[in-house]
Amino acid sequence: MFVKLSDIVHYTDKLLRCAEVKDWSGAKNGLQLENDGQITRLGAAVDSHIGVIEEAVNRGVDLLLVHHGLYWGDVTPVTGANYRKLRLAMNHNLALYGAHLPLDLHPKLGNNALLSKALGLTPSKGKPFFFEKEQYIGFKYETKFTRDSLASKLTQVLGHAPTILPHGPEKIRKLGIVTGGAGGDLAKAAAEGIDTFITGEGPNHSFGQARELGINVFYGGHYATETFGVKALASQLSDHFQIPWQFIDVPTGL
Ligand SMILES: [Zn+2]
Repeated sequence: MFVKLSDIVHYTDKLLRCAEVKDWSGAKNGLQLENDGQITRLGAAVDSHIGVIEEAVNRGVDLLLVHHGLYWGDVTPVTGANYRKLRLAMNHNLALYGAHLPLDLHPKLGNNALLSKALGLTPSKGKPFFFEKEQYIGFKYETKFTRDSLASKLTQVLGHAPTILPHGPEKIRKLGIVTGGAGGDLAKAAAEGIDTFITGEGPNHSFGQARELGINVFYGGHYATETFGVKALASQLSDHFQIPWQFIDVPTGL
C-alpha cells in the first residue's frame, strides 16, 4: 500500500497556501526533492541537514516534511557536502517537502498558533502580530502572566528553561509570540505595542536593545519553538492519507 507523492503534495500545497504566502526569496515552499512517487511512511523534522536525512533513511521514511528546507535563496551547486546529502536521500528514495513561513503563520497547524496553545493562550482571541513579508506571522495577547509564571510555563512546554532578558515589567500585560529567529527584530516587535516577546533566539546585542526598549525577551530556542508545526502537519497528513508518521528529533540545542 502506498500513497502517490503527487496527491500528498497537491493536498499540502493547498492546505498551507504555499502559492500565496510570501517568504524569504528563494525559500522554496513545497516539494524540494522528488522520489519515485510512492509514499508509505512520513517523517517530520525541523531541519534538513545531513543528520536528519540519515535518521529519516534509517527509519525507512520516504517523505520527509521539514520546516527549514534545502533552499534559502542562493543557487546551491550540487557538490561537496550538499552532493553527499542529496545523494544519500536519492539513494534511499527519500522525498523532501519544505514549508517555512506557511507553517509559521498557519492558524491551526502553525508554530505560532501551536506554541500559543501550549502556553494556554487562544490564537483566535489574540491579535495578528509581527508584520513580515506582507503578512502577519505571529500573535499578540493580553495576559496575566508574571515573568516567573511565564518562565515556568515555557520550561514545562519546551523541556528546558528559556533565556530571559528581564528588561520589561514584572507583570506581563501584552505578550507577543514569534517562533524561530526573530531576536534581531526587537525594535519591530516593541513598536507593535508589546511589553514581552517570546521568540527562539537572538544576537548578543539584543540584550542591550531589550533594555533600551524596556521589554522582556524570552528566548525559548529556535529549534524547540519550531517543533510544533511539522508534527501537526504530519499528523494531519497521516490521518488524511492513512499512512504512519514519526517525528525525526535531532535537536540543535540552539
Ligand atoms: Zn526557523
